[in-house]
Amino acid sequence: MEKIGWHPDLPTKFDRVYIEDKSWNSPVAERARRIFPAERIERVKRQPFPEPGNQLSAAEYNRSKRHLYLCEYQGRFFKRCPGARPGLACCNYFVLNLGLGCDMNCTYCYLQSFLNTPVLTIYSNLPQALEEMREFLLEQPELKIRIGTGETVDSLSLDDLTLYSRELIAFFRQAPHWRLELKTKSAKVDQFLDVEHAGNIIVSWSLNPQHLIDHEEPDTAPLAERLAAARKCRAAGHHLTFHFDPLIYHEGWQDHYRQVVAEVTSQFAPHEVLSISLGALRFQPEQRHLMRERFGMKSYVTQAETFRSADGKHRYDLDLRREMFDFVLSEFRRHSEDWNLLLCMETREAWMGALAAMPKSVPGLGEYFNGQALTAFREHQKQNYNEQGRNR
Ligand code: SF4
Repeated sequence: MEKIGWHPDLPTKFDRVYIEDKSWNSPVAERARRIFPAERIERVKRQPFPEPGNQLSAAEYNRSKRHLYLCEYQGRFFKRCPGARPGLACCNYFVLNLGLGCDMNCTYCYLQSFLNTPVLTIYSNLPQALEEMREFLLEQPELKIRIGTGETVDSLSLDDLTLYSRELIAFFRQAPHWRLELKTKSAKVDQFLDVEHAGNIIVSWSLNPQHLIDHEEPDTAPLAERLAAARKCRAAGHHLTFHFDPLIYHEGWQDHYRQVVAEVTSQFAPHEVLSISLGALRFQPEQRHLMRERFGMKSYVTQAETFRSADGKHRYDLDLRREMFDFVLSEFRRHSEDWNLLLCMETREAWMGALAAMPKSVPGLGEYFNGQALTAFREHQKQNYNEQGRNR
């Protein structure tokens, strides 16, 4: 572990790094103590800063990005994706939340709708997360499932600190029919490229034109670096997926999206990218105020004309969403009909308009929509709760 380097920006990324007593000797805390200057590290008994009742203020939210807290997670790590809801055509999968918060700063970030933790938190008890997955694997050894770690924290933006990808990839060698999805807007992949794997790791980039990255995704990696990192992962034998998400309307959007599709299609062949998903801008109504306070009205996101859709989120109207989906889809298809394209977190109406098919009928995706896995997981959770009840 000692030999694995870190990004030169990491040691100054945080004003302060708090390490909970119980986590002080965990591998991630020991590495943090090597990376960050001693004067920035503080050993604490509990989370610093009071937790507000509901939402963080803009100042508290901005501060949370500069304060890191390492502690043990008290709940269960391994969960069903919360995106699966009636009325949405979502790719069913499971999540492993290894932290809460993000060191990057996208204007539209959905964490703004619910985050009330005043510090960026990384959980130090990874072995517990691995154990929870192992229990499910032993119980259901045949099930094919996908597990993502990028739900409440970026999978890789702090991975040069945690090195969790290395342990996860090693764990997934024991479950070659499972897939691990590492989802990111960073370009940090060097720390795991040497780890032996079972060909079941998907490294997944959210992509946008560089103009939008500059405008709406502060502190994320530039497009060219994300694509270069994807090429390294491809060379190491990992699967790739790309997400054009969120598509954001702005003057010149067609030219910008045409350019980014041209970048992708010139650097990758359709068979090298498992899927490309599209999602249009969406956000929870409760985050609008915070976005405006934090980014003003210069952002294309805060300026956007949006409407509340059936699931409560604000989205562009259906015609504009379809126009944007159709444009990007046709740019890919102009290059080749073989790109595996889908929409995620979209309403059924948009799916029917854009692809005339639901996700499970897109070739190669059927197995991800297998209700068997979710039923088995519900049963597994029930047993866990019953056992906890008996042990109390
Ligand atoms: S990278 Fe993801 S989690 Fe981080 S700020 Fe952007 S949208 Fe939020």
